[in-house]
Amino acid sequence: MDAEQVLVLGLGITPPWRLVSQHLETGKHPHELHLHLDADRGSLFACPDCGRACKAHDFAEFRWRHLNFFQHHCYITARVPRTDCPEHGVKRVQVPWAREGSGFTLLFEQVALMLAREMPVQAAAEQMAITDQRLWRIIRHYVGKAMAGLDLADLKAVAFDETASKRGHNYVTIFIDLDRKTRPVVFATPGKGKETVSRFNDFLKTHNGKPGRIAEVVCDMSPAFLAALRETFPDASVTVDWFHVVQLFTKAVDDVRKAEARLVKMPSAVRWAVLKAKERNLTQKQAAALAELEAGGLLTAVAWQIKEKLRWVRVAPTLQAAKWRLSHFIRHAREKLGLGPLLEPVQTAIETVEKHKERILRRWASTYSNARMEAYNGIFRAARARARGYRNVQTFITMIYLIAAPLGELFNSI
Ligand SMILES: [Zn+2]
Repeated sequence: MDAEQVLVLGLGITPPWRLVSQHLETGKHPHELHLHLDADRGSLFACPDCGRACKAHDFAEFRWRHLNFFQHHCYITARVPRTDCPEHGVKRVQVPWAREGSGFTLLFEQVALMLAREMPVQAAAEQMAITDQRLWRIIRHYVGKAMAGLDLADLKAVAFDETASKRGHNYVTIFIDLDRKTRPVVFATPGKGKETVSRFNDFLKTHNGKPGRIAEVVCDMSPAFLAALRETFPDASVTVDWFHVVQLFTKAVDDVRKAEARLVKMPSAVRWAVLKAKERNLTQKQAAALAELEAGGLLTAVAWQIKEKLRWVRVAPTLQAAKWRLSHFIRHAREKLGLGPLLEPVQTAIETVEKHKERILRRWASTYSNARMEAYNGIFRAARARARGYRNVQTFITMIYLIAAPLGELFNSI
């Protein structure tokens, strides 16, 4: 195999196209390898609309950036004809190594996409020696195309939750197909309210999905979401994710701590100790701080003990046991509330749990009981890191899709 064949193989070019010349430009740094492709004289080309073999009408020269050849930047130049189809008129033909309108070869774009999945966009762009804006254009094109072709005909169980594109700002609601083990994200949309559910419904309908088929929904306890679900998917059973119950009490404990810290001096290690779960590696300092709170009869300690008891509910082996344990948990917590008005945040949390008791208990009855949004937080964190530096909800959504949506053939097309 000679050097020319190696280059042709790497490009995936097929007749009538062939490599006619190559030239290393050493006046530039990095050096540039220029490959010139051409078609045999008199070749026929397929009309891009109907495929009919047509004579070339005229030619224009185009250039594409290709993958580096060792350390050299590589460019392909070719004279691309327009066909003159009797039915469709004069049209520019498609070349096999690049998509229409792109200044890069397909292979270059595939590598760029793979890098963008693995590292921040800024770093991937530097690695490919292109501007970040051009890299985003490539990503948007392929992700948009793949998402447009997503088929949701089989979708029957979804979980959704909101996440912020940066801490506390610009919420995005993400919908997950509970039957997909990998790449489960099927839809993401700006906002965190009722309108996100109806946007999901619209998306579902334009992607072959049937709203009436949605039998299971897992979500949090937000009244807006629940109202929207009743309206949009009236037949679906709703399960509250256990993760959200824990989150609710964690916040309540923290609110009690903040209020109490204004009245009593507390060791600074308390803040992290009460947010952590008991078995999860409390530092010596944190453990000592908690013991001190408990000994001192502080209400932060009471709130924390209530939260810790959730764990006992969580491990109930059956629905029956879970029902009993949850009632016991509520009754026990209510008894403690009398200890002082500082426990009010805990009271609010308990009221919320009582209100959603049935939906919380459904996790013991649902076939999707192991679905936990918590597991998806890693995906959202990764997307935030990849899109870092781009303060825009759309870039965050595009990155979530790139990392976690079923994009099908996107990475197998070469
Ligand atoms: Zn035609």
